[in-house]
Amino acid sequence: MIPEAIQRFISAFSRLPSMGPRQAGRLAFFLTSLDKATREELERALHVLGTMDRCGECFFVKQQDAAACSICSDRTRTEAVLAIVEKETDLLTFEKMGAFRGKYLVLGKLAERGILEPAQKLRLEHLKQTIRKRDALLEELIIALNPNSIGDFTADFIAREFKDLAKKITRLGRGIPTGGEIEFADDATLAHAFERRS
Ligand SMILES: [Zn+2]
Repeated sequence: MIPEAIQRFISAFSRLPSMGPRQAGRLAFFLTSLDKATREELERALHVLGTMDRCGECFFVKQQDAAACSICSDRTRTEAVLAIVEKETDLLTFEKMGAFRGKYLVLGKLAERGILEPAQKLRLEHLKQTIRKRDALLEELIIALNPNSIGDFTADFIAREFKDLAKKITRLGRGIPTGGEIEFADDATLAHAFERRS
């Protein structure tokens, strides 16, 4: 009874975060109501997303044909300070703040149980090797995870893992409310938490 095109859309899009089959269905019918030009614009946007790849250094996104992402290839940024963030959108929030001129490592979404996935451990391992190859310790490693129990638990783990690889390991100051999320912090709050890192 559900047209095949709609069914196919639902099974593809209900895999997205916070999108169940019901929401995907609603979205499908909404999209069919749009004019052709708008639908084509959406199609193109999806298609261009398909040409993005993951940066092998920081694991942010990069253009498929680029060696690294725009941040890793920016030579004006220092390698001596590095912030570990959970999500790409956290990185963007930091960038928007504008005060940070170091590099990043995007860890990937933390699981509810607070145990790192093998892929996340590999990312940390990759960072360790990068630092070791440089023959110089990081001046500062900023563990910029959300101030909730999973973020704190993971930050403790990372701090132990990197204690011999950084001169200083810091976390964001308490400006972001406990249990809050970096992604939703306003610039001033994040800047304050960044300045008061310890
Ligand atoms: Zn990168």
